[in-house]
Amino acid sequence: MDALLDLLNSRPLVNGEEQDALGDPAGGARWAREHGGQGSRAELELLREARDALRDVVRGESPPAVLRPLLDGVHQIPEIASDGLRWTLRTPPHARLAVEMVLAWAGAEQQLPGRLRPCANDECRLFLLDRSRANRARWCSMAVCGNREKARRHYARTR
Ligand SMILES: [Zn+2]
Repeated sequence: MDALLDLLNSRPLVNGEEQDALGDPAGGARWAREHGGQGSRAELELLREARDALRDVVRGESPPAVLRPLLDGVHQIPEIASDGLRWTLRTPPHARLAVEMVLAWAGAEQQLPGRLRPCANDECRLFLLDRSRANRARWCSMAVCGNREKARRHYARTR
């Protein structure tokens, strides 16, 4: 799920300008390899597609059905191994990483429903995965967006 969060957060606003870790072919290929991919052009294209679809779904702007094309031709094969049952993912090679992201999203929805969400700061485009028991995290990072919100409230109070 950390790779999924990395993907969702690969297009942050930095000083008001969007930076895209998957934007240029070299940087995008590096990003993909760092997350277990192969770094091909086709893989990168699919990753961008998966990212944008997942962002819209997590924000509630699209229904999960928009993810369906990403799972075209994907199979999971059960195999008995010495330590029990194991599921092997069968995808076209360039699609594996994008498919893993969709599966990670489905896993998050199942194990931590509602915990994957956008940062509450309107000027921030990042997402967070709240693993805390209280489930009250609102910001991608307390240090950045949390403090900005605190400062904003303080400013509003003292005016
Ligand atoms: Zn944030």
